[in-house]
Amino acid sequence: MQEPVTGVPAPQARGGEGHVRRMTARPANAHQARLLRMLRDEGPSSRAQLGDRVDLSRSKLAVEVDRLLETGLVVADGLAASRGGRRSHNIRLAPALRFLGVDIGATSVDVAVTNAELEVLGHLNHPMDVREGPVAVFDQVLSMAGKLKASGLAEGFDGAGIGVPGPVRYPEGVPVAPPIMPGWDGFPVREALSQDLGCPVMVDNDVNLMAMGEQHAGVARTVADFLCIKIGTGIGCGIVVGGEVYRGTTGSAGDIGHIQVTPDGRPCPCGNRGCLEAHFSGAALARDAEEAARSGRSPELAGRLETTGRLTAVDVAAAAAAGDPAALALIRDGGDRVGQVIAGLVSFFNPGLVVIGGGVTGLGHNLLASLRTQVYRQSLPLATGNLPIVLGELGPAAGVIGAARLISDHLFSPA
Ligand SMILES: [Zn+2]
Repeated sequence: MQEPVTGVPAPQARGGEGHVRRMTARPANAHQARLLRMLRDEGPSSRAQLGDRVDLSRSKLAVEVDRLLETGLVVADGLAASRGGRRSHNIRLAPALRFLGVDIGATSVDVAVTNAELEVLGHLNHPMDVREGPVAVFDQVLSMAGKLKASGLAEGFDGAGIGVPGPVRYPEGVPVAPPIMPGWDGFPVREALSQDLGCPVMVDNDVNLMAMGEQHAGVARTVADFLCIKIGTGIGCGIVVGGEVYRGTTGSAGDIGHIQVTPDGRPCPCGNRGCLEAHFSGAALARDAEEAARSGRSPELAGRLETTGRLTAVDVAAAAAAGDPAALALIRDGGDRVGQVIAGLVSFFNPGLVVIGGGVTGLGHNLLASLRTQVYRQSLPLATGNLPIVLGELGPAAGVIGAARLISDHLFSPA
């Protein structure tokens, strides 16, 4: 049922020197922006379906849709199901639009290309220490983006979303004093990458992107108010209110890893003591596991340490699955500490869902069980009565889908 559309400029008309000119148009008003986001989130729709969802008269809707068709941002695509009368075409986002989603973690980089509906067309992962600094990390990102292009998945990128594992001044896209990212403080990520990639770029912290990914395509699809806790090398919390990420006044909302859980506790890279992530995070867990192995408390972990030379959350999960009491105790203690903090957040925020994600989700149901126990014990029944606390659905894809969503939100806004 595909019909060629005439009189509509191709979305990627060629510019000079073999470059492909990408998305140059932006929605002209809030109605057009809303239509673009609906098409992104719900896929191809008939004019009647669009009309049901936006508060516009039939003739006004027709005007806005026709203007979007003229920009090339949307195209007519196949005949819609009839509701009586003349059958009309479905409208969809231009199939040639491509977004780049980049999720920079503490120990690896994920880069993916998506279409305008944020479906992942290709996804690459590469181990990389974020402490190597922005220049080395971005060389890696550009080379991965180049590979995705060379594979034929994209001729170019219409925009890129970037996640970094630390606080970001939003919307300028500049990391600010990130404890686990020495060398990144004040680095103009947005500006630098936008130049290198030749497209608009938006930057956010990795936890917000994970929340947006789970919201777009994962476990939080139908929830407007939720918390997304990422437990990786550090710990952070994405806060979604009324369907939008809440970033706070300067962009540091949800930085729960540095809430003090133990007065005069362990030193934290941030300079304080007793922070949550100094006591339980991927990094803290690895240290505790190695300590348990060396002290003779865990023969299972000791065996693994001897084989591999270092331990991670994966080893702790495997030892726990083998019934190792020391590994199980590490997970239980960690779940207790995170659970305490989440209990406070639940009392404060009354979310409809709590999503747990990040590298330690391999600890799975043991972690979830102790964390849930704490939350249900410490928060009031009205807040926890219908509160699911679940693992994220998307794994490492959450960050890159969230990154694509970040840049598409920006581009699908009135210019
Ligand atoms: Zn700290």
